[in-house]
Amino acid sequence: METLINRFLSYVKIDTQSDPNSKTTPSTEKQWNLATELAYELERIGLRDVTIDDHAYIMATLPSNIEKEVPVIGFISHFDTSPDFNGTDINPRIINNYDGKDIILNEAQNIILSPDYFEDLLQYKGQTLITTDGTTLLGADDKAGITEIVTAMEYLVQHPEIKHGKIRVAFTPDEEIGRGAHKFDVEKFGADWAYTMDGSQIGELEYENFNAASAKVVITGKSVHPGYAKGKMVNSITIANEFIGILPPEETPQNTTGREGFFHVHHIKGEIEHTEFEMIIRDHNKERFEERKKLLLKITEKLNSMYGPCIHLELKDQYFNMREKVEPVMHIVEIAKEAMVEIGITPIVKPIRGGTDGSQLSFMGLPCPNIFAGGHNFHGKYEYVPVESMQKAVEVIIKICELTATKKYET
Ligand SMILES: [Zn+2]
Repeated sequence: METLINRFLSYVKIDTQSDPNSKTTPSTEKQWNLATELAYELERIGLRDVTIDDHAYIMATLPSNIEKEVPVIGFISHFDTSPDFNGTDINPRIINNYDGKDIILNEAQNIILSPDYFEDLLQYKGQTLITTDGTTLLGADDKAGITEIVTAMEYLVQHPEIKHGKIRVAFTPDEEIGRGAHKFDVEKFGADWAYTMDGSQIGELEYENFNAASAKVVITGKSVHPGYAKGKMVNSITIANEFIGILPPEETPQNTTGREGFFHVHHIKGEIEHTEFEMIIRDHNKERFEERKKLLLKITEKLNSMYGPCIHLELKDQYFNMREKVEPVMHIVEIAKEAMVEIGITPIVKPIRGGTDGSQLSFMGLPCPNIFAGGHNFHGKYEYVPVESMQKAVEVIIKICELTATKKYET
């Protein structure tokens, strides 16, 4: 447990925030600071073919230690942290034997991590928690995942009596800005399937995510003196209002959960002659997803026929539900489930209300479900991770390697 904690602390102390406004990969120079360290570490623990490319993607191999041919599997995490909250000068705090009460993160600023608000805390009573000091995020997303993969690989190197096939490992930059998979060389990685270690609480196992699109609506109006505007003025603000008013009012983020999809208008600016707004469209179901996009086209058509061609709609697909790529190879989910059950964890299988690098990778030809890394309250000052959950994630990785080598699965 000591090694695990120290390894995790050494990663989170290095600031690796990504930047959505940057055009380079990695998006920030500072991500190299941890990336180069990680490449050295992978060599140090005994992995082979350690490579780090021009965009800071790291790959490495744990060679097979058995005779027969079994599927090559991979484990993937990202080393950047979210740009949503301060990620500089992280001073983690370690709470031993958590007593189930309020944790004062920062006395001076009265920042408290309380189970009254964050009920999940109570399931970790008696465990060791790593928290922030209230002024930064922690970066367990996803340095917990990296810690777990490195620790599991080190364990397998040191315990050749555990039999496994060829295992590939990859660490990527820029996941938090949606670009972790963009420059991922799936062919070079050469795995039959992989798992991202990037979920939250212990037991999480995900292979469904949203289908996602974005829409930009630009409305051009006509300004005329309001006293003499009858039959002449076209007010783009009121047309925007009409457009948004036609969208089903119950299908918004604040009214939906589980597999329910939504429209989410998140940005609007306007004056009489020019109003534009942006929205995102989300649905797990492919047909309903397509229907949602069609509805926007229909509204555009309808209002254009009423007010003249004043609306321009721009629709862009963002990512798709990996379920359709994972379902044909469901054994990859079954192995992960079985691994969890064997080490005493109840799998929590649920659809992600978002996307993952794994969904993009799945569509690039590498089916890639997501497994818990253990942390909670990502992207903010209340982020924390129980060390016991990280330990269990290490065991899940080892068990998956073992099961893949011993089971007979069609690939
Ligand atoms: Zn993450």
